[in-house]
Amino acid sequence: MAANPKPVASTGENLNPYDFALRQFDRAADHLGLDAGNREVLRNPKRQLIVSVPVKMDDGLIRVFQGYRVQHSIARGPSKGGIRYHPGVTLDEVKALAMWMTWKCAVVNIPFGGAKGGITVDPKALSPGENERMTRRFTSEISIILGPDRDIPAPDVYTNSQTMAWMMDTYSMTKGYSTLGVVTGKPLGVGGSAGRNEATAEGCFVAIEEAAKRQGLQLKGATAAVQGFGNAGAHVARFLEEAGVRLVAVSDSQGGLYEKKGLSLDAVGAAKEKKGSVVAGRGEKISNTDLLELPVDILVPAALEGVIHRKNAPRVKARIVAEAANGPTTPDADDILRKKGIVVIPDILANAGGVTVSYFEWVQDLYSFFWDPDMVRTQLQRTIRRAYEDVDTMARRYETDLRTGALILGVGRVEEATRIRGIFP
Ligand code: NAD
Repeated sequence: MAANPKPVASTGENLNPYDFALRQFDRAADHLGLDAGNREVLRNPKRQLIVSVPVKMDDGLIRVFQGYRVQHSIARGPSKGGIRYHPGVTLDEVKALAMWMTWKCAVVNIPFGGAKGGITVDPKALSPGENERMTRRFTSEISIILGPDRDIPAPDVYTNSQTMAWMMDTYSMTKGYSTLGVVTGKPLGVGGSAGRNEATAEGCFVAIEEAAKRQGLQLKGATAAVQGFGNAGAHVARFLEEAGVRLVAVSDSQGGLYEKKGLSLDAVGAAKEKKGSVVAGRGEKISNTDLLELPVDILVPAALEGVIHRKNAPRVKARIVAEAANGPTTPDADDILRKKGIVVIPDILANAGGVTVSYFEWVQDLYSFFWDPDMVRTQLQRTIRRAYEDVDTMARRYETDLRTGALILGVGRVEEATRIRGIFP
């Protein structure tokens, strides 16, 4: 089993993602002047399901994995959020990610609440057959709270469109009819949407464009480093390269690759494809920690949470940090980056392109009418640019940073819905 890559307490900081999600929430709630009762409602997930997932392994032995599905809020619509397979998955991590999903959906103003799920497992150690059996059993275990008008999963770390196809098929088989809208991020042939694969990255790139414009930074000729070379990171890297940004470093779970003159993404992609890691490409080998401290204009953390913390934040030199990952910056690090004048585009805005196109996919599935790629792109770009403007306005109105501005916007919308609906009974 791979080691848990999350930074440990050696920073002297509490790195429990749920604790720092709550600290971020409290900051926004203070600005909004929320009363104690509503605060308590929004601080707690609506529903938490922990399941045992028994899997018959290829050698005939049975192993049992722990799985989770947490629904933080359904105040604005069915809950929505990804499924993560990783050895570091814990209930608190899933609770944090579910809460961030609630605020994120509200920031881009789509009619969803927030949820997240995951299994504590090293998926790289599973055969494709074991992965499929685990996915199907997990789906069956959590299906009691899923449904296109209830809770709709999507891909996250180490899950992909194939995982979503298995989830949709499993749910449909138990229902007895095909229910395409129960998950998003599916392959195109089974109700997927054009543009969903690169949606998170495209949204992130649009947010970077907006930040650069306000900072007077020309993207052509600027430099960037991207941590994590998966769905989010690899596509952001490509969008940046296409805009003329010099990509000096990329990394994955094995480590990083640096080239001052700029890496060739085609070559990096080929190395990853052939040898399983970007580090097999041509360039100087660096660590994931070194990458975060490079003197670049744009830094894109696109892997896991808690990587920019109290200890290394003073050494971050980027002008713009675009959080393609969820929760990569701790609250203490946030304060340090703000004092250094670094613009942090917060996760709930920077990576909201994924859930935005997931929403488009769900709408297309419900109507059985599918959009062409141009329609998806236009709607995605419009949504993210408008959300950026709204967040920026909030940040200026409350004289705060973009993260707090985004939280004020998101928490405010969810609180309003919760208040209008009232407390049952
Ligand atoms: P992925 O599985 O496609 O890719 C993850 C990448 O991170 C891989 O390249 C992996 O090698 C790398 N990685 C793993 N551990 C690492 C470590 N310790 N240091 C550096 N790199 C490491 O996952 P993804 O979907 O790209 O998700 C990445 C981040 O983006 C997560 O925080 C996720 O929640 C967030 N996100 C994803 C989506 C989406 O649509 N996929 C949407 C919003 C946010």
